[in-house]
Amino acid sequence: MVNNFNCPGDLSLFGTFDLSYAPTLLFYSYIPIIFISLALALFILIKDQFSLQSKLLLGLSLSFSVWVINIILQWITVPAYLNYFEWQITPFFEILIPIFSVYFVYVFLEKRDIEIWAKAFLAMITLSVFVLSPTKFNSISFDVLNCQANLGPLLYCIYIFEFISSIAILLYGVIKTASKKLAEEEKSQIRLLTSGASIFLVIFSLSNMFGETFNTYSINLFGPIGMVLFIGLLGYMIVRFKAFNVKLIATQAFMFALIAMIGAQLFFIKIAINFLLTGFTLAASVIVGGLLIRSVEREVAQREEIESLAKNLAKSNDKLFTVNEQLKELNKQKTEFVSIASHQLRSPLTAIKGYASMLLEGSFGPVEDKARGAIDVIFESSLRLVTVIEDFLNITRIELGKMKYEISVFDLGQLAQTVVKDQEPNVKKRGLTIEFQDGTGNHQISADSGKVTQVVSNIVDNSIKYTPPSTDAEDKQAGWIKVKVENLPAGRSKTKENVRLTVSDSGIGIDPATLTKLFDKFVRADDAGKTNISGTGLGLYVAKQIVEGLGGKIWAESEGKGKGSTFIVEFPRSSGEVTKTKSQVESYTKTDLPTLSKVEGKTLQNGKK
Ligand code: ADP
Repeated sequence: MVNNFNCPGDLSLFGTFDLSYAPTLLFYSYIPIIFISLALALFILIKDQFSLQSKLLLGLSLSFSVWVINIILQWITVPAYLNYFEWQITPFFEILIPIFSVYFVYVFLEKRDIEIWAKAFLAMITLSVFVLSPTKFNSISFDVLNCQANLGPLLYCIYIFEFISSIAILLYGVIKTASKKLAEEEKSQIRLLTSGASIFLVIFSLSNMFGETFNTYSINLFGPIGMVLFIGLLGYMIVRFKAFNVKLIATQAFMFALIAMIGAQLFFIKIAINFLLTGFTLAASVIVGGLLIRSVEREVAQREEIESLAKNLAKSNDKLFTVNEQLKELNKQKTEFVSIASHQLRSPLTAIKGYASMLLEGSFGPVEDKARGAIDVIFESSLRLVTVIEDFLNITRIELGKMKYEISVFDLGQLAQTVVKDQEPNVKKRGLTIEFQDGTGNHQISADSGKVTQVVSNIVDNSIKYTPPSTDAEDKQAGWIKVKVENLPAGRSKTKENVRLTVSDSGIGIDPATLTKLFDKFVRADDAGKTNISGTGLGLYVAKQIVEGLGGKIWAESEGKGKGSTFIVEFPRSSGEVTKTKSQVESYTKTDLPTLSKVEGKTLQNGKK
């Protein structure tokens, strides 16, 4: 019985402990390691929201810490019975270390719990060690003189188990990283964790084994250095893979280590004044450390807030994108609806226009003057409606990317002259004058003559509409319209030329504010209704889309209200032949939506260019 015996040393501390036999390294190496490993494990536990892997890491840190404390106690406990008890319980904490290591590595890498049979196996091993600890299998007797137990085979079995576990972890890492499915980053993570855990276990088991075998217990002191390595590795992983917050962990670990080291000194100091000084240093370290940790915490919180804001922003961006897509779809449906409705309106309107015209021409017999006035209104209104519907159809074609262009080479001068001629009766009717000026040379352009006619007609028609009429045929002040076609150098180039069409009038003019948005959809100047009641504000929008779709430019100039306006259309001059057979006419559909600012994305329909 060891009950009444004491190990060497006096019962100086709490009537039980004597620190003088313990090697200094014991406090310096063991205590900070306990603090660091526990701090890290606790931090990860909170950060990882109490996940299984973080609980297992805490389990590993706790069992390791208790093991270390038990070893320290063995060095300093004087009563033999107590010391013997500490020796006897060692295997229990020792076995928990490889068990938690294996379990943790598996869960960390597989992201799931181990199978029930594996749990049962690990539990069985732990339980056997627990049951065998107080038996001769663990310690045969206690040597009071040297204050150490004569060990049975149990601890050696555990060392072997630790060694096998470390090899198993290493092999597991090698097999896992051989898989081609994993990303390189994941592989490095696996390599780091498995090698770290296995190095820790190997150092731990070998140092214990040597120490025990050759009775050189100071070798045991190097065992926990493996834990430092393992913790360092976890720290590195945290930095590399940004698993947790590095700065905070580093600061906390550093502060804990510092405080632990200063605190450990208190155990060796024999002079009162030194004791006091160290006490002060310790207190100062605790305060400064606390402040430092708090400032880092604040910074980290701010960063986390920024990160979460960024995440929210990304989420709302995604939402906006979806909503935008839905809106685009809705817009397309709306355009399609307008297109169908306009088509449906066209046929009855043609009938109205046709019959009104026939009635006016007397195809159904003479028409009374009273009725003629009414039929005239019907005819004029139907003409206006035709224009509106044409504009709608053109817009829907443009917006749906279905605008089709038939390209040929023609003379813009000739085209403009024809338009002017066609409009002459209209001009006369309003008591205005129109003049056409043809510049020198030919004015060939490569475009869609039908669409360009539509654009030129629209501009000339506008000049007539927005120039106040004159009732007096001899009026010298009567409004005028001038149409001019000429060739101009394109930009600074001396070789390339543009063909420019200018339509100017002496009409109501345009104020600068309206001028900037004149070519937008549904834009009409405030005073437009006075001279032309029935406009829609669509003609210029369609004109711009067509001109730009054909590679030209269109703009308006005016010195202001009442000062007349000038509309200019420019196309690059073409050197091609004017005479083209029908089969040489190229056609393409403009597909880019919604504004056709450049001639790009041409879909050539007949495979010709
Ligand atoms: P609408 O003539 O049907 O209103 P447009 O798109 O052809 O539609 O013209 C848009 C607006 O531009 C007109 O309402 C008018 O205010 C202005 N505008 C067009 N041409 C002239 C012009 N020659 N002189 C003055 N204003 C004009």
